[in-house]
Amino acid sequence: MRLDEYRKKRDFNKTDEPKGSKKKSKNLFVVQKHDASNLHYDFRIELDGVLKSWAIPKGPSYDPSVKRLAMPTEDHPLDYADFEGVIPEGEYGAGTVMVWDKGTYRNLDEKSLMEGYKKGHIKLELKGKKLKGGFALINMRARKGWLFMKIKDDHADKRKNPVNSEPKSAKSGKTLEQIKNG
Ligand code: MN
Repeated sequence: MRLDEYRKKRDFNKTDEPKGSKKKSKNLFVVQKHDASNLHYDFRIELDGVLKSWAIPKGPSYDPSVKRLAMPTEDHPLDYADFEGVIPEGEYGAGTVMVWDKGTYRNLDEKSLMEGYKKGHIKLELKGKKLKGGFALINMRARKGWLFMKIKDDHADKRKNPVNSEPKSAKSGKTLEQIKNG
């Protein structure tokens, strides 16, 4: 039921994106670089059998003073974390999708992740290939959208900018162009 919106937006005869069958994984997170009408980074975390999702136009930063806008999008199926490919023209989200980073997370808050999500205050340790250490997601409430930011810790580094320095897929090692060209 929670995937109704996801499924309604897509024609699975035309797109290779998964319809969604997987029920459980293990504290999964994924960041998908999505070259749609505007290039953005989709940040997704496993919560209660689905991937809660945000679109981050500028992508993640390792600089704790940088707060990136993260716009919530519809829940995605867990299987989506492995999707890398091309969504055909005319379909929802048309463009190339890359698994830019993937790994597991650990909730850094005393409250449960679901509680944190509902309250709009999430603190996670990410264990990815590119993203490591603490990150926070804060719902701005009054203004639409959330903020995604690095938490100050040993991994924080103003000079580090993986969006530019590590542009290739964490899954296949391919560039966006290579994925686009199959
Ligand atoms: Mn997207």
